Amino acid sequence: MTKLGKQGTAVLRLLVDLLPNVRPGDPRTYISYGKAHALLGFPGTPQDLEYQGLGDVAVFAKDEDLPAITGLVIRQDTLGPGKGYFEVYGKDEMDFTWWENQVALSKRFNWRPYLDAELSAPRATPPANDISQPTRVDTKVSRILRDTQLARLIKEKHNFACQLCGKTILLANGERYAEAHHIQPLGSPHDGPDIEGNIICVCPNHHVELDYFARPLDPDQIRIVAGHELDPRFLDYHNRHHTSLRR
Ligand SMILES: [Zn+2]
Repeated sequence: MTKLGKQGTAVLRLLVDLLPNVRPGDPRTYISYGKAHALLGFPGTPQDLEYQGLGDVAVFAKDEDLPAITGLVIRQDTLGPGKGYFEVYGKDEMDFTWWENQVALSKRFNWRPYLDAELSAPRATPPANDISQPTRVDTKVSRILRDTQLARLIKEKHNFACQLCGKTILLANGERYAEAHHIQPLGSPHDGPDIEGNIICVCPNHHVELDYFARPLDPDQIRIVAGHELDPRFLDYHNRHHTSLRR
């Protein structure tokens, strides 16, 4: 973690948080320099992001042989990544197949071990209270932190077991792993809310199926635990999409 630095870690976490709603090959589901820079609350202009952690993450991912996740940050004019993205990896500037593939690999990759150090710190000392005079940007940043914590809270409530199949993944370090899915997805065009009733704890396979509305969500088949209820409105939303996409 020290290797990545504070800004690099913040950038990586922002990108990992995006992944559930990213569709490889569809840059509209990625993030622009401007938006990433604003969400991170860094000073300067969006172009400065290269030197404010984004470049560090690119080099870090290459050195550690991780998927090239920095391809999620795109220029608003070209809808493509910065030139440096391909350069760092010694790729041609227009190697879009490689780019899409790296995004797909990023989606499937378990980034948690690389963020754990960051995530466990705010759990010990809740961060939101320390912000004495929140600016607009600070508010956005703390919202991202809360998102992460809300998803984590729900996964913990389910002891990291998939609400659809009951399976969990046991990591080499003994921790359990699951993913959180927003049933009515966040962001355009779905604009679902980031609330407990809209978040389901699932295994990676079921997560992909839900992301693509590939399976319906039958309330009777979903495993529940006390203290976490899914809102039927979001289940309906999901099922309507599932049905409309079926041929
Ligand atoms: Zn599952």
